[in-house]
Amino acid sequence: MSSVVFGCRECGKGVEVTPGEQAQCPVCLTHNDLPASDGTLNACLACSCDEIYRHRDFNQKLGLALIGIGAIAWFVWTTFWPLAIAAVLDVVLYFTLPDVGICYRCKAHHRGFSAITSLPGFDLERHEHYKHVRAREEGQLPPRPEKGASDADTKTDQDNASGADGTEKTNDT
Ligand SMILES: [Zn+2]
Ligand SMILES: [Zn+2]
Repeated sequence: MSSVVFGCRECGKGVEVTPGEQAQCPVCLTHNDLPASDGTLNACLACSCDEIYRHRDFNQKLGLALIGIGAIAWFVWTTFWPLAIAAVLDVVLYFTLPDVGICYRCKAHHRGFSAITSLPGFDLERHEHYKHVRAREEGQLPPRPEKGASDADTKTDQDNASGADGTEKTNDT
């Protein structure tokens, strides 16, 4: 069964919704719904951005916790084995876990879709691009100036500069 975890449209907290259904946000109780899906992933179901990458659905915190427990056991029982077992368990988990499709734009996690295997891997350039898109949307960055407007500004500056030059020349002569 497929599901998507994405930020609640009201408060931004993570909500897990089955495509074609709706689920209530556990924090603000807003109903978040998703369009139905046939298993393809041409666009993010949460924000309809068409760039999604494939990532191993590995919980890094769980991985680190396993290693941490192994390290503590190493100190307590002064034997290396717990740490070695934890490390092996981490590797086994990593390679047996399914992939997840993550939207570059809204970070929605798509799980259980047959199309995930054909998604491209992570691309840092796309990630950076969408980081800026999100920052602009959230008002952390000023909107990009219109191309025409910035051209006009430059032109005015140049006009002023040449005008100043002209005055100087007149003064010299
Ligand atoms: Zn909410
Ligand atoms: Zn999205």
